[in-house]
Amino acid sequence: MAIIDISLGIKPGFPVWPGHPVIRFTSIQQIGKDSKANVTQIELGAHSGTHLDAPLHFLKDGFDVTAIDLEILVGSALLIDVANAEVIDADLLDTLSIPKGTERLLIKTTNSQLWSENEIVFHKDFVAIEDSGARWIVEHGIRLVGVDYLSVAPYGNTGPTHYTLLRAGIVPVEGLNFDGVQEGRYHLICLPIKLEGCEGAPARAVLIDVDK
Ligand SMILES: [Zn+2]
Repeated sequence: MAIIDISLGIKPGFPVWPGHPVIRFTSIQQIGKDSKANVTQIELGAHSGTHLDAPLHFLKDGFDVTAIDLEILVGSALLIDVANAEVIDADLLDTLSIPKGTERLLIKTTNSQLWSENEIVFHKDFVAIEDSGARWIVEHGIRLVGVDYLSVAPYGNTGPTHYTLLRAGIVPVEGLNFDGVQEGRYHLICLPIKLEGCEGAPARAVLIDVDK
């Protein structure tokens, strides 16, 4: 059984959404210096690195990240590679022959290359899902959609895609890294930190290649 880590490493200096907190790790106890143990204080936004959005992110009365149904976050997932796509819209999704009954859809784009290049700059021109694509996802019964940049929605127009997905109870997983991962069917495990009352949370996401 091969386990493939599709999470980004969270570290200081890592790109964050403009206006979100900068990631900081501060050593507050160090072995030998003043303590028997190492202890780090971490500062980060809920949408740092690989993370999930809960409905509360865009919906005033939406539920928080701890209320997301765990059954959505674990199970069979389809990874599709759309290397030539500049946007993910309904027309593109129509051409991909995504089998009926697909519940978890992971979309690999050229964004993944940015992570392999160890990119430290925030890119505004990342490949994202437009609202027509989000509506396609709702209409086709998908329950989780994973993307390889820090938002499912295009920069400068984040509302429509998030509203469409979150109102329908679809879980967006953002900031995945599919670099070096082949398209195909996998078993996904993607569990967010249990941050009570938060509208999102970092997650460790892995794919299990059931054929290996
Ligand atoms: Zn987010």
